[in-house]
Amino acid sequence: MNTIRHLTILGSTGSIGESTLDVVARHPDRFKVVALTANNNVEKILAQCRNFSPRYAVMLNETSAEQLAKALNVEGLDTEVLSGVESLEKVAALPEVDAVMAAIVGAAGIRPTFAAARSGKLVLLANKESLVMAGRIFMELIKENGATLLPIDSEHNAIYQSLPHQFNGDFPTAGVSHILLTASGGPFRDAPVASLEQVTPAQACAHPNWDMGRKISVDSATMMNKGLEVIEAHWLFNAAPENIQVVIHPQSVIHSMVQYVDGSVIAQLGNPDMRTPIAHAMGYPERIDSGVKPLDMFAVAHLDFEAPDFERFPCLRLAYEALAIGGNMPAILNAANEIAVESFLNEKMSFTAIPSMIAHVMKTIQREEITTLDDVLMADNAARAAAHEWLVSLK
Ligand code: NAD
Ligand code: MG
Repeated sequence: MNTIRHLTILGSTGSIGESTLDVVARHPDRFKVVALTANNNVEKILAQCRNFSPRYAVMLNETSAEQLAKALNVEGLDTEVLSGVESLEKVAALPEVDAVMAAIVGAAGIRPTFAAARSGKLVLLANKESLVMAGRIFMELIKENGATLLPIDSEHNAIYQSLPHQFNGDFPTAGVSHILLTASGGPFRDAPVASLEQVTPAQACAHPNWDMGRKISVDSATMMNKGLEVIEAHWLFNAAPENIQVVIHPQSVIHSMVQYVDGSVIAQLGNPDMRTPIAHAMGYPERIDSGVKPLDMFAVAHLDFEAPDFERFPCLRLAYEALAIGGNMPAILNAANEIAVESFLNEKMSFTAIPSMIAHVMKTIQREEITTLDDVLMADNAARAAAHEWLVSLK
């Protein structure tokens, strides 16, 4: 008999949220959904409530919450509907919940993810922005409250699997020399640099290997996603920036590697499907079926590797810079990037303006130390304002 893991899924209507529910549905004897949350997609969360009968459903948006409550009522479903950020925090901290899937996209995920850490939950972390914006305080919060953190991001999940069991962040003692963080290089790895100016949102969102939400798809096309992941790896594994090497690997079969001082390199491989890292973390320490097809090595046949090109991908360089500067700078980088991606997706600026906007915002706002979540949110606000100002100045 398995003990049942009681779950809150933050961002259940998103790409990671849906993959999580796919894994949950395969194991009714292991998982029970207590709460689902979404921004404003009433139709999708209603369907999820029908299938998973959660005790709570939270919509960030109040009007959407009213619509959902009405629809549930008509169908005679007894899920309780809540709204607003405080309710997201509440369902991340419920005493009856053991594990929280943190899969809200962007800075909006930070408060509920922090609430889960503060309540000592098993935190399944997809929302990399929590670590990018506030890595030090987030890791301290996890430790102080006896929470457990398992990475969902495929690269970090692969690194976690490739590190020694019980790794405590001490590279020399564990004999670890480098983390090799793989990256597909996205849809524009080989495109002529001069053509990037004309890239459309649809082209940027068409990732060659992974099917993801729109924000992270654009981040993959600029390689800011890898930049954010370098910062994420720094905090998760206590890795110095010079010990994190980005490796372009177009097939996305190796999801990342750990290089040891004795010459060994341990890698985790699989088909590019997020249900593998999700199932790894959800079932941990046991291995459970994820629904992912077994990897066919003969079909893969070749594995290629290249060094990253910082000229083609200035966002990657900006992320290393923000990490080196430290303090509020990674939060500033992240916020400026969110506005830049949104402005590009809304066709208010070009693809190549994304790094220009971020570089401008990083220059405009002074470095400051960060000690509280409020400091982080202040840096986030200031960066958003500076990014909007820059956008207006373009016209
Ligand atoms: P998505 O856009 O598909 O889904 C985002 C979810 O967050 C949705 O449920 C949405 O309703 C909710 N949401 C959006 N804005 C919100 C707000 N302001 N307040 C509350 N909820 C809000 O995103 P995704 O691709 O599933 O990514 C989710 C997170 O996982 C991101 O942090 C991303 O970086 C990370 N991640 C995703 C993938 C992937 O394959 N999709 C891989 C690795 C990491
Ligand atoms: Mg990733």
